[in-house]
Amino acid sequence: MVPGAALAVAAASRAFGGVYAVRDVDLALAPGELRGVIGPNGAGKSTLFALIGGQLRADAGTVSLDGRRIDRLPADRRARLGVGVVFQAARVFPGMTALENVMVGAHGTTGAGFLAAALRLPAHRREERLIRDRALECLARTGLADWAGRPAEALPLGQQRALQLARALCGQPRLLLLDEPASGLRAAERERLAGLLAELRRAGTTMLLVEHDVAFVMRLADRVTVLDLGRVIAEGTPAEVRADPVVVDAYLGAGSPA
Ligand code: ADP
Ligand code: MG
Repeated sequence: MVPGAALAVAAASRAFGGVYAVRDVDLALAPGELRGVIGPNGAGKSTLFALIGGQLRADAGTVSLDGRRIDRLPADRRARLGVGVVFQAARVFPGMTALENVMVGAHGTTGAGFLAAALRLPAHRREERLIRDRALECLARTGLADWAGRPAEALPLGQQRALQLARALCGQPRLLLLDEPASGLRAAERERLAGLLAELRRAGTTMLLVEHDVAFVMRLADRVTVLDLGRVIAEGTPAEVRADPVVVDAYLGAGSPA
């Protein structure tokens, strides 16, 4: 099992057209921690996610993985260092099967490399078999075993989103970033996802779970960070955050059961 990485975001800011989407955010995750990030629409959750995953660059501040700066690296380099991402919208590679979509997640994480692949050396064939087995396992874990041979774009939307998670898992991430993975899922799919995230947590994967569904986050996360207008307005255990008057005012609303 791959040990989880420590994540540190320090004084990170990012503006669009002069307006801050993320402003002076500090965030520190211990290895193996499952951190929830909540906040109203437009709070900066997806922007923060992208600053860590590398889809966006910060205007200021740093992002470190196990103490190593990664904020100048492109997203694919970060992926190779163990940062797995599951975006808010489903993104699948059309023209490939579900299995092939998941296998893509493993490339760059294994040893034999491009030259061996091009020459189809035995080492490469062995590696392809390993990746294929791992991908099949990731499909099974995300409830997609029956879809392996189907074209990815033929999957229903919920399954396309699960496919993205399967692909990220196939890369054996040490830090898994999830942007609203529960949104649009039916109750049974949501339960499966909750079970899988709990299992990954037990296995020691560090996770950042951005979610609109506060109840979903509260039952899974070790700690929760609350963003509002690009800033961290609260952080603590789910119980602490739920009881924080600042959070209740800004976000949960007075008397909200959350
Ligand atoms: P959340 O995920 O919490 O809903 P976002 O991070 O998507 O919030 O957005 C935070 C703010 O940044 C919003 O005001 C949004 O309109 C703005 N924003 C996000 N991405 C872009 C972009 N690519 N271009 C311009 N503005 C953006
Ligand atoms: Mg968002």
